[in-house]
Formats: sequence, C-alpha cells, structure tokens
Amino acid sequence: MANDAYEAVIGLEVHAHMLTRSKLFCGCATDFGAPPNHNVCPVCVGMPGVLPVLNRHVVELAIRTGLAAHSKIEPHSVFARKSYFYPDLPKGYQISQYDEPLCRGGYIELPPRQGGEPRRIRLVRIHLEEDAGKNIHADSASLVDFNRSGVPLMEIVSEPDLRTPEEAVDYLRELRGILVCVGSSDGKMEEGSLRCDVNVSVRPRGATELGARTEIKNLNSFRFVEKAIVYEVNRQIEEIAAGRRIAQETHLWDPEREMTRPMRSKEFANDYRYFPEPDLPPLIVPPDLVESIRAAMPEMPAERRARISRELDLSAYEADVITLAPDLVEHAKIARQGLNNPKAANNWVITEVLRKSNETGKPVSSISAAVSGLILSKVEDETISFSAGKEVFHSLWDSIDEVSRAIERRRQISDEASIAEACDRVLAAEDAKVAEYRAGREKLFGFFVGAVMKAMGGKGNPKVVNEVLRRKLAGKIAG
Ligand SMILES: [Zn+2]
Repeated sequence: MANDAYEAVIGLEVHAHMLTRSKLFCGCATDFGAPPNHNVCPVCVGMPGVLPVLNRHVVELAIRTGLAAHSKIEPHSVFARKSYFYPDLPKGYQISQYDEPLCRGGYIELPPRQGGEPRRIRLVRIHLEEDAGKNIHADSASLVDFNRSGVPLMEIVSEPDLRTPEEAVDYLRELRGILVCVGSSDGKMEEGSLRCDVNVSVRPRGATELGARTEIKNLNSFRFVEKAIVYEVNRQIEEIAAGRRIAQETHLWDPEREMTRPMRSKEFANDYRYFPEPDLPPLIVPPDLVESIRAAMPEMPAERRARISRELDLSAYEADVITLAPDLVEHAKIARQGLNNPKAANNWVITEVLRKSNETGKPVSSISAAVSGLILSKVEDETISFSAGKEVFHSLWDSIDEVSRAIERRRQISDEASIAEACDRVLAAEDAKVAEYRAGREKLFGFFVGAVMKAMGGKGNPKVVNEVLRRKLAGKIAG
C-alpha cells in the first residue's frame, strides 16, 4: 500500500450461488446457460396468488456451510421481504433474511503466509436469499431473462477483519475452498457463482475507530477484488491527506479504466422496508438435523492442510506452497517412497518440480513423480551428485528408461582406488603447489579438489575425493 501511516479496514460480503438442481422456492431448474426465460414458472416470475415453498436441500447446504465456518446454526430464523423496484425483480421485493439469519458468527481461518501465523477472519452471519433475474441491454431495447430469478444464494458477511488486498484474496480463496468442499457452491467465479461486495475504509495506523467506508459492488474475480481494493485504499488515503472527508457511498469497479466510480444515487436505494415474509413460516431447524449434518461433514481444507503437513513432515514454508496444490501433494507422496530421508522430496517439489512446470508451461500433474523418486534415490545413494540429478530432471521429460540411462552416464566414481589414482596424477603434476600447501597455504585445497574433479570428468564423488586428497596432502599415504 502506498502509505505506511494508514491501514485499510476491509470487510467482504460474498454472494454464492448454491449447488442445487432446483430454485429456492419453486421446482424450476437452476442450470447455467439455458435459453433465456426457459427455467421459469409462476412462482419465480412473481405472478399474483402463488406461494413459495422452501427448498429443504438449500437449508441443509447452508447448515453445512455454517458448520464448516464454525458458525452458530440458529434453531429459529425468519425470511423477510426486501422491497425495491427493478425490472429484473418482478415481485417488487426479494425474499431474503434480515435480522434473524440462519447462521451467526463463526470464522474462516486463513493459511499462514510464508510461515507466519494463521489468521482468523470472523464472520457476522450467513443467510439465505433468492437471486434476481438479469437485465440484458440490447441496442434498441432492454430485455429481461428470469432464469436466474429465484436461484438460491447464500450471503456470507465477514467482520471488517481484513487489512490488505492480498489478505482479502486469501480469504476468498479459502472461503471458495470451503464452499466447494461442503458442496454448497461450485465456486465458479467466471460463471457468476461467486460475487463479492467489498467494504473499504482507511484510518491512521494504530487507531481503533473505523473511518467512513465505501462499498464496492459486484466484483466477480479475485483479480478485480484485489485491484479495486488497492485503488480504493489509495484514493481514500489521498483524499484524507488532502484534508477532504470520505463520503459514505456505493461504488462500482470499472475494469476498463481500472478505477472505482460512485454509483448515481438512483442506482441504489437504501430504504428496503424489510418485514417478515407473510407467505413463509419461520424456519425451524431441529438440533438433531444439525447433529446429523455435522456427523457427515467431510474433511475441511484447513484440516486437510494440517494432516498433510503432519504426514509429509512439512516445514511451515513447504506447507504454504505444497498443501494448496493437490498435484504437488501427490507428487511429493510418490517421490518420497523408498527414500531414507523422505523430507528431501518436499524441497525438491517446491524448487525443481515447480521450476520445471513454470519453465515448460506444463501442469505439475504431467511431470512424472516416479522420475523424481528415481532421481532422488540415486542422489541419496550417491550414484549421482545432486547437481547431476537436477540436470537429468530438467533436460528430460518423463521417460523412466531415458532417465535411467542418463543417470548411468553421469554415475559418480566412488571407488577409492580410481580416485587415489587421479589424485596422484594431479599431485605429481602440481608438485610446486603441493610444497606450498604443505608449507601452510591451506587455501590451495580447493584448487586440488577442482583439478581432481576435472581429471575425472566431473564424475568423482566429491566426498571421497575430499577424504583421499586430505590424507594424501597430509603425507600419511606416500604419493
Ligand atoms: Zn420457478
């Protein structure tokens, strides 16, 4: 951020399309990409006299999400009408939850960055609501597609616990991982499955009061979230530094010009006149339903990271990189088999395997983990040096036979007799330097090692070369 004297205070409201086959209050399909106004019925286009019927599966998915986020599942919650007029909202109101949401509190734990501490971002609430239709503005007319009207949404509201644009993106990634894991959303931002409103304010670093905030509406990619926050934080710091006040207003992100702009006041209305939906009874969630859902919960992303860290004995930094990518975990698991020091595979994966993937533009899954394992085992038993191992790995792709032959060609010479012979040749040719060394110029040792390695075509086992040279130069074995 541009100015260290200020800190940003950021909260996110995420709208997630839920992974259900039918809509929130009717039996219409929710599939993405159907022809316009194909998935509609009198309920979801708001015909007079129809009655909504709550989709039980949606409630169960929201409870799963709440449990995954450590929220309290309220036994009694209420649907409310949120009144506003817009052509894509045929009823003139949206059914949402207001002061009595299904889930309250909870937190999302962010993975530590670069070996730091994990961060807990508290949640205010998770509630259910129906989506509106979609306006399509053509050249000469505006059209409305009601396929999306009544599709179930979860709104997940965080406390303003986030401090940087990167942290906001970490939060979104983690939240998306949880939603996908419990099966409540497909997490596809590009299809609009996740949309995000961002609340941003800035304050002098160390202050505890909140500054006036702006809300940036409807961001639909991680990149836009990050860019919009960076832009808005810098804009607010400049305003404050110039002695101006921040107006509490709603902004839109303009991806073309890469800036936020205030919405015209007509584009949003604050008086929604919420009142309890008279056509739906309060939502009663019996405790045994919550317990049966809890008993069937899958392993959460944070638990999975902790388990893999234990299983692979990962350092904090390695965990940071490896556990976020299932392909790297699989690669490390296979490559470590049969090694005396299986931890060697962890570092190999985050340096050499990632480098190879980046340089070739191929995914990690297409790099053979068996090849990594073979090379690491041959480095471990000193058949080849570590640098020869890297060379083999990066010069070849993934044929085990090819790799085996390349390893043979680079096989280290470890037998003492051959190494002693090479040492003798070098020492005999360099008798003046040997005399200098024995007179106390110990720095020459490296020169002798280099000369012996060169004489052996780079294949001498450096450990054995060192040992033999030391003995010979000390004069214990007659040259
Ligand atoms: Zn319908």
